[in-house]
Amino acid sequence: MTKSLLRVVNLKKHFPVERGMLSRLSGWVKAVDGVSFSIDAGETLGLVGESGCGKTTLGRTILRLLEPTAGEIFFEETKLNELSPEELRQFRARMQVIFQDPYSSLNPRMTAGSIVGEPLAVHRRAETKGKREEMVGELFEKVGLARHHKNRYPHEFSGGMRQRIGIARALALKPKFIVCDEPVSALDVSIQAQIINLLQELQEELSLAYLFISHDLRVVAHMSNRIAVMYLGRLVEVAVKEELFQNPFHPYTKILLEAIPEPGVIKKQKTGLPGEIQSSLNSPSGCSFHPRCPLAKEICSREEEPQLQEKEKNHFVACHLR
Ligand code: SF4
Repeated sequence: MTKSLLRVVNLKKHFPVERGMLSRLSGWVKAVDGVSFSIDAGETLGLVGESGCGKTTLGRTILRLLEPTAGEIFFEETKLNELSPEELRQFRARMQVIFQDPYSSLNPRMTAGSIVGEPLAVHRRAETKGKREEMVGELFEKVGLARHHKNRYPHEFSGGMRQRIGIARALALKPKFIVCDEPVSALDVSIQAQIINLLQELQEELSLAYLFISHDLRVVAHMSNRIAVMYLGRLVEVAVKEELFQNPFHPYTKILLEAIPEPGVIKKQKTGLPGEIQSSLNSPSGCSFHPRCPLAKEICSREEEPQLQEKEKNHFVACHLR
């Protein structure tokens, strides 16, 4: 049996909500609420769901940029929860992130070369300044930027070029796993394809594994081997991409798929979902999707939250009626 590169077990991230002059605890926002999955080396797991469903919080909790409330994270079978701060720092080098917004994720006071070279300096990956500059130049070329770009500041680049700088920075420490958090959603459509192609080329060349987060199922489908669908802090369906598209089980997945516009249709179609995504502060009883589910029955609101179960080989779904 091959071992997974990353394994997440029953991961939770809850945020306290305080009210009043005395900041009394009035509840918890369960942004991530019992999520389990694994990713193999070189694989892309797409993570899709509406804004506010907990995708970004999940990515940041896996990287320990946020402390988990509960659950376990294994990277190359090492349990990250039990590492000392120094050990965790070493592991973090192998787990990187590409942020959504290339406009705000780069320090405007640093040159592009300093931004990409910073992790090399912090982790002492080059013996001399000259060696570090050589490594930065190689990283620039790897992501399709010219070496002389390293003396420019972020505001002198287009959005797509800034995202390339963010990718070069993420690659600097030779990671095995990258959380791509909506990496193209702030870019023009024509530039999106270039960045997606670059990420795919880098994955092939460097055997990278991605957790590819997006609200856009078309983009996720283009990038992913498997797809996980998230709703209110929980995974509701996980399957190989082709299986998910041809044979979706969960009503929420079906609605997301039906909302994908046909090629050439410019007007954005409605998702067909009544109402907005609920707050995870006051999740409904039973299945948290039941207030919006077109197939909901009485059992859906009074039973326990349905658990993610393997209904067909490698096809997992959380629904009482499947
Ligand atoms: Fe819909 Fe019920 Fe299934 Fe939830 S459990 S997705 S409400 S059918």
